[in-house]
Amino acid sequence: MESRLTRDLNSQDGKISKAAEDTETELLNRSPQRPRRTILNHSLPAPVNLLALRPPFLLFKCVFVLCLCVPRHSPEPVCLRVLLADEAKGGDGAKSAYDLCVLWYPIRLFFAAWREIFPSMRDRPIPRFVRLSIPLLCWLSLALTLAFIPQANAQNCGEKGIAVQVLGSGGPELQDKRASSSYLVWQDGQARVLIDAGGGSALRFGESGAKMSQLDVMLFSHLHVDHSADFPSLMFSSWFEQRNRPLPVYGPDGNNYFPSTVDFVHAFFNSRNGIYRYLSVLLVAQENGGYELQPHNIAGDPSSVAFQGEHLSTYAARVIHGGVPALAWRIEIGGKTVVFSGDTNGEGDDLVRLAKDADLFVAHNAVPEGATGVERRLHMPPSVIGQIAQEAHVKKLVLSHRMLRTLGKETETLSEIRKSFAGPVTFANDLDCFLVE
Ligand SMILES: [Zn+2]
Ligand SMILES: [Zn+2]
Repeated sequence: MESRLTRDLNSQDGKISKAAEDTETELLNRSPQRPRRTILNHSLPAPVNLLALRPPFLLFKCVFVLCLCVPRHSPEPVCLRVLLADEAKGGDGAKSAYDLCVLWYPIRLFFAAWREIFPSMRDRPIPRFVRLSIPLLCWLSLALTLAFIPQANAQNCGEKGIAVQVLGSGGPELQDKRASSSYLVWQDGQARVLIDAGGGSALRFGESGAKMSQLDVMLFSHLHVDHSADFPSLMFSSWFEQRNRPLPVYGPDGNNYFPSTVDFVHAFFNSRNGIYRYLSVLLVAQENGGYELQPHNIAGDPSSVAFQGEHLSTYAARVIHGGVPALAWRIEIGGKTVVFSGDTNGEGDDLVRLAKDADLFVAHNAVPEGATGVERRLHMPPSVIGQIAQEAHVKKLVLSHRMLRTLGKETETLSEIRKSFAGPVTFANDLDCFLVE
């Protein structure tokens, strides 16, 4: 069977560019009548490790493998299929397999063209410098590819020590293309605390690699839709896991406009009139496999512990968020302290007290400087965030709950914060992972 390469080179207007348009799928699905093609499966570590920790290791592997598989005289198509770690473990191959055939095929074209142009070279080995440059190109290609992989590779967040992962960095608007507010606190590879569950966060939770069975506690800052809409999805997800211990759920009490946290949970799963009453078993202790949701209302007192677990302690402070019962949360875990402001306009002293000397302070950047009216009554502008961070002497500031009205204004936001806070400031994106040091 005449190969596409030969057709290209022999055709009237044969252009290498046409063949170069081959996709990796085409290459892998070529006719079985090309028995000389070789596919080498080779596993490499997860991409985050590749980029952040192990470039020399990766380079070594690429050099080693390609030197073995690149033929000296007759470069029949050799596809080096790189399986990243999660696919090697049976994960989603569509996301994580990167075929270096994409790189290899143009190189093969180059070899073929070389021989067509210089017939006298046909029987000579490929020059050494060409062979040696292939692994380098390979490494470069893989590194560039990985740079464009969405941050679905953040499964490694919190493998060691304490880390905060942003599941949702956006606000209520879907056009910000971010999940709504939600965070995970990791300890040594275990997702211990889930804070809020805004729309889209259930998907991000799955992408983070966390399991509902790992959680020690769930905390609500308040019950606005953009902080709570995915709660039933997350709870039902745990149905398919082997969780056999209670899950405490803590959040604010209620008022005329908002249910308390206890009422909120029961409104979903109460056996008599709950929205999802068919899942009422989630409120009942089970002997095997199931677990019991244990909701609690918290008034918010920074000086007394709200939830004390085996691995962590949590404290809450009442914050002002218009007329919405709202809490900021402090989590002390593994010798580190992380504080989440939740939505607040920054009035009052309790948030500063709660955030005192925090290693990481996650604040909500929902409005720009100069905001007025309802926006300002609900949210704190950057200057107020900076003042709170400075007064509390937090070590690091992360800005989340980014909305269309603040996205694109990062420079102005940062300059307002810099007027009072000199420490590190980072703007959060979905699935970002912040090590707490
Ligand atoms: Zn919000
Ligand atoms: Zn809110």
